[in-house]
Amino acid sequence: QKWVYTFGGGSAEGSAAGRDLLGGKGANLAEMCNLGLPVPPGLTIVTDACAHYYANSRTIPDSLKNEVRAGLRRMEEVTGRTFGHNERPLLLSVRSGARASMPGMMDTVLNLGLTDETVQALGHDAGDARFAWDSYRRFIQMYGDVVMGLDHEVFEEILEDEKARFGHEQDTELSAMEWQHVIARYKEAIAEELGESFPQDPEVQLWGAIGAVFSSWMNARAVTYRTLHNIPAEWGTAVNVQAMVFGNLGNSSATGVAFTRNPSTGDNALYGEFLVNAQGEDVVAGIRTPQNITEGARIASGSDRPSLEKLMPEAFAEFTDICTRLERHYRDMQDLEFTIERGKLWMLQTRSGKRTAKAALKMAVDMAEEGLISKEQAVARIDPASLDQLLHPTIDPRARREVIGAGLPASPGAATGEIVFTSEEAVHAQEEGRKVILVRVETSPEDIHGMHAAEGILTTRGGMTSHAAVVARGMGIPCVSGAGTLRVDLRNELLIAQGATLKKGDVITIDGGSGQVLKGAIPMLQPELSGDFGRIMEWADATRRMKVRTNAETPADARAARSFGAEGIGLCRTEHMFFEDGRINVMREMILAGDETGRRTALAKLLPMQRSDFVELFEIMHGLPVTIRLLDPPLHEFLPKTDEEIAEVAASLAFDPAELRQRVDALHEFNPMLGHRGCRLAISYPEIAEMQARAIFEAACQAARDTGAAVVPEIMVPLVGLKSELDYVKARIDAVAKEVIAEAGVEIEYLVGTMIELPRAALRAHVIAESAEFFSFGTNDLTQTTFGISRDDASQFLTTYLQKGIVERDPFVQLDFDGVGELIQIAAERGRRTRGDLKLGICGEHGGDPASIHFCEEAGLDYVSCSPFRVPIARLAAAQAAF
Ligand code: ADP
Ligand code: MG
Ligand code: MG
Repeated sequence: QKWVYTFGGGSAEGSAAGRDLLGGKGANLAEMCNLGLPVPPGLTIVTDACAHYYANSRTIPDSLKNEVRAGLRRMEEVTGRTFGHNERPLLLSVRSGARASMPGMMDTVLNLGLTDETVQALGHDAGDARFAWDSYRRFIQMYGDVVMGLDHEVFEEILEDEKARFGHEQDTELSAMEWQHVIARYKEAIAEELGESFPQDPEVQLWGAIGAVFSSWMNARAVTYRTLHNIPAEWGTAVNVQAMVFGNLGNSSATGVAFTRNPSTGDNALYGEFLVNAQGEDVVAGIRTPQNITEGARIASGSDRPSLEKLMPEAFAEFTDICTRLERHYRDMQDLEFTIERGKLWMLQTRSGKRTAKAALKMAVDMAEEGLISKEQAVARIDPASLDQLLHPTIDPRARREVIGAGLPASPGAATGEIVFTSEEAVHAQEEGRKVILVRVETSPEDIHGMHAAEGILTTRGGMTSHAAVVARGMGIPCVSGAGTLRVDLRNELLIAQGATLKKGDVITIDGGSGQVLKGAIPMLQPELSGDFGRIMEWADATRRMKVRTNAETPADARAARSFGAEGIGLCRTEHMFFEDGRINVMREMILAGDETGRRTALAKLLPMQRSDFVELFEIMHGLPVTIRLLDPPLHEFLPKTDEEIAEVAASLAFDPAELRQRVDALHEFNPMLGHRGCRLAISYPEIAEMQARAIFEAACQAARDTGAAVVPEIMVPLVGLKSELDYVKARIDAVAKEVIAEAGVEIEYLVGTMIELPRAALRAHVIAESAEFFSFGTNDLTQTTFGISRDDASQFLTTYLQKGIVERDPFVQLDFDGVGELIQIAAERGRRTRGDLKLGICGEHGGDPASIHFCEEAGLDYVSCSPFRVPIARLAAAQAAF
């Protein structure tokens, strides 16, 4: 077992490929050495040692200790210094470094090896006593806090106190003598608070720091971070021990951080900050305001403090050169840390830099065009989920925000509008051309229309999977859910915030990206769908195999989806069309009719409405495939529920309220999800399916005439479990098709298929495929029926499941590959065995989830279908899945 890998002096034992073993920091330090860049020599203790440490009651094996000592000797040779020696002492930094960058880990300890004796030697050697004592006090501060566990505020208080006593503002103003006073008080505080003195043996200091890095792997911050980011505990952290270089050695020394390109805009311009006469974290800690690295950035920021470019032109030139080399080498934007000691540049870290979604797009496109990466690599580099941020208006970052409350960022984008408290008001306002935010305690299916009419949705109760959140995400409408500090007073039509009370009609802005609720209208930035976004999409489209369709029933959604690049409609839920004003009553008439004749009379009124809906959709889709699902939900969803509503509906339909109540009660079901719905309705009331089929075919004829583009409607029968169910309904559809074709004298092509949303259908796919010309996996229902979990009731216990680790992910968000996934594979394989050209698609919410889309690619589906705003995400994810 090799525990230690050394680097420095022009070469390294490890390299960037050794990331798993050396951690990200160690691997890249080794890589930079191999590239011949100036890196202070050091050693990396491998991640396996961390596991060993925990497996052996937190002890460090002798073999490791020996390898570290050998590594130290090598560092001594390269630097010409000696660890713990009183002439030219070697000082060390001890740095953690896991495979994945992990902010929860131990802070770096700098200047290790300083003692009451070596500090004298260091000052003497450098010819600068102030520098030596400044380094020593930093070391005691860090070691005392990070390794010994004394709260850093204790040190800060002492320092503030002493600075005031000596009449200084800045740390850099303290003299060697003055630092010695501070140090004496630091040591006293440690002895007093911890009952042990500050270690004066450099070896003891070193093992203390190494042990602290290992221990920090299990600290609460790190454990939380790992859980949030799915990082396994077994990975462990590496430890980097490196020779110190000093940015605090007077005014020709400095330390800084930089990005090779601008991480927020993506501009190809070096971006970074530095401080003169400073060490390590001073730059980010905000003790002093850092200066710009480039002259260009200095001018742009209006700063009058000199840039590194002006101040240390030679070190700057070398640094920019290294930036270019590293970016070329890694073929990605780098985030760098460096130090300049008396004019000499040292590189201390490089890694791929974090960036905003917008910058990621720009960098990927630019780098592909510069020839640094291929177009495929550019496509692969964009996180599909991050596109969400770019498809919606966002609050102008320069705008002033007056926050009145906050909830969960349930659906991205920002929206401004007048407060309304009911869906009716939202619809009414939309008709008058006013923009509104629908504010509710929580929403229910009856609010669908109000939600559609609103610019944004704000609820005071409910989580990320509440009705409001799920529906808003599907519609692409911004939503903040569960804003618990706000209270809705419905009776007085007030929204009560801490420190502010707003009335109906007052304007608010919600930010679905952050969860903030803001007072008034705030300036927004509109999404940019061309430019870099357009290029990436173009390249993605060139590589993907699967088609991307959309779930849409309204013309607005269909148009939005087209503008996002949808290649057809994968799911048009016809029932949504019946909820509309003026239609719901005809629908109720049909449901309440005593017999078939009565039903047919009402259906005859619905026919032209449905037909015109379909004509519009077909025209928007202009020859692209459109899958229309026959009526799916149980009929009682269309009926009134409360006494009040019943009285109202009875009056408008000239129906007896008592009788209406009876009819409503008769349609009540104990478990409507598994009740009288889907194809079961079409079998009980074939006239409904016939009307819908007629509307579809007549619309197809008309759209073909109007646009000249042939429409091939795909009629989808929901909730089929038996082939005989499908056959019964298909026979009705075929009969209607024949009639319409004869009447119109136009030949129409169409497909009849089914949703696969019951386990039985998946298992009997080879039989069902004898009749079905396509399958669409309705994975919302298939997940419900496979797990036997009702989606509408799941939020309570699923949250517990997630917390307790019973399930890793919400199966309604990411497809359950093992169970539901296997059913999909079975159905795809058996279905295609019967019918080689069986068209396969997915239309559940999973169709917009990148990980699920990968699965669909592997299962060989022909297309995925998702809500309009997820279409670009799906296009990108489908391209990545195809690599
Ligand atoms: P983090 O992972 O938090 O960035 P690092 O291990 O990179 O922690 O250390 C933080 C800072 O400490 C570095 O940016 C650098 O300024 C300073 N530092 C680390 N090692 C050395 C060293 N050998 N010499 C001088 N400064 C160092
Ligand atoms: Mg760092
Ligand atoms: Mg379904």
